[in-house]
Amino acid sequence: MAKKKSGDADEPAAIAKSKKVRCRYCGQTNAVREDYKNGQANCGKCKLPLSSEYHKKFADLLKHDYVHPADSKALAALRAIPGIDSALKQLLKVTGEKAIRVTFMASAVKVTPKQCPDLHAKLQIACTTLGVEMPDLYIQQNPIVNAFTGGVDKPIIVLHSGLIERLNDEETLAVIAHEVGHIHAEHVLYLTAAQLILAVATIPLASLPIAGIIKELLTATMRGALLAWMRRAELSCDRAALLVTQDPHVIGKTMMKLAGGTLASKIDYDLFLEQARDFQKDYDEKMLDKFWADIINAGLTHPFPIWRVSEILQWVESGQYKELMDKS
Ligand SMILES: [Zn+2]
Ligand SMILES: [Zn+2]
Repeated sequence: MAKKKSGDADEPAAIAKSKKVRCRYCGQTNAVREDYKNGQANCGKCKLPLSSEYHKKFADLLKHDYVHPADSKALAALRAIPGIDSALKQLLKVTGEKAIRVTFMASAVKVTPKQCPDLHAKLQIACTTLGVEMPDLYIQQNPIVNAFTGGVDKPIIVLHSGLIERLNDEETLAVIAHEVGHIHAEHVLYLTAAQLILAVATIPLASLPIAGIIKELLTATMRGALLAWMRRAELSCDRAALLVTQDPHVIGKTMMKLAGGTLASKIDYDLFLEQARDFQKDYDEKMLDKFWADIINAGLTHPFPIWRVSEILQWVESGQYKELMDKS
């Protein structure tokens, strides 16, 4: 509010003049102070920073435009395993897509235009930018900073409450966009199966009948290939997230919070980027594969934020990201 001199309380001129700014992400028209500068105010609908910069919406983005080669390679290896598709279909028939939906309807908060409207607006932004039909979005009380996408014919996205509490609006958009990327890149069937394997790998669930069904239907080779693909699939979806946020540092800072947790506000972002570049020098795929096998036992699904930042930096520096952004 404009400061008033004493004695001019009823002076109409004390009210700052306003102008209208259209949100580059969601299209909502917002009234802002006439002297407002980019990033100084947030949109009333999606809560993202207002800016006069252009936000690209992709007319016909293909998954092959951005999918990481490591993802394509691992997926091809996975699909080449004899019987994998029928085994997965059988698994999902038993566990049931409907059961997944009912579980979340019963236990998590469904995001709608009225319930958490800013999250609904962010989902809409991610979907219109990448060209994906809107899935259902849920928020679940869970302190672990994470999100996931599941289902097959009708995918759903679930955000943990810990994630929304920890991330700012742009970072939350990045996470939602990453999840929408899983739908755009047609990951959901394999992702849902991989998540089931991971879920029953945790001790409390290992005794459930589903753990036996998974072992019965999926061979160790299939399970191993699914999990090996799963982490590479993350690299593609980080690229999808970048195509929505259109700022590599939003992805970098989101990863920094995933890596550093509550200490993130004290972590130096430039040093974090330096660490990501150093990581690339010592990159050893075989070692990562071994480490990944151990990590599964700890119940982590989105490991290696430093590796993921290093991959995003490389993609930007390769010029491929700019090429996609410049394509009409
Ligand atoms: Zn907006
Ligand atoms: Zn993911």
